[in-house]
Amino acid sequence: MEQMKVLREETVEPAGHFAAEIHKNQVLRIVDLEGQQVADLVTVSAANLAEKLSVMNTINLNKQVFPRVGYVLYSDEARAMMTIVSDTCGVHDMLAGACSSFTNEKRYGVKNSRNCRDNLAAALKPWGVAWKDVPFNMNVFMNCPVGADGNWSIQAPKSKAGDYIDFRAEMDVIAAFSNCPQIYNACNAFRLKPLKAVIYEYSAY
Ligand SMILES: [Zn+2]
Repeated sequence: MEQMKVLREETVEPAGHFAAEIHKNQVLRIVDLEGQQVADLVTVSAANLAEKLSVMNTINLNKQVFPRVGYVLYSDEARAMMTIVSDTCGVHDMLAGACSSFTNEKRYGVKNSRNCRDNLAAALKPWGVAWKDVPFNMNVFMNCPVGADGNWSIQAPKSKAGDYIDFRAEMDVIAAFSNCPQIYNACNAFRLKPLKAVIYEYSAY
């Protein structure tokens, strides 16, 4: 028999961020504590900080735009970094990228807003990853439907309080996420909420 052994558990405040080194076969769980809150997630190889999540490789190697159980996050060297092994929500996004002060100014006319690109850079700073080297990301719990004609929009998340998604590490990775501070569109249903990060592994007993 195997038992879930929690190694770390942390509430991530609204607009906050999280990062941790996760060893191969350990699992990162992101919990949407109140529902309708997005996490922008990136992965970097712990052994080689130059090898990072590639959204494009991930979409074309999975032949699927929408992440789901069994979906693999691939690096820019087309190696498996993490696999989604559980998911109680079912609606996530690979296309939206991360909000930045630049896109917030372009789209909404606001300057110096809190944003996911800065959050991810802050989360990865302890490993020496520069702002420009932060890869683009998966959007956990984000709801961006694609229409038959290719039209694309940001809608309120489908996630409910307590929904979670589990990512199993396929290599030693640094996983970082931003608790998205976006308030200018429906991405977080116009209210910022906490998330929870849990790292666990299975141990025999
Ligand atoms: Zn964001």
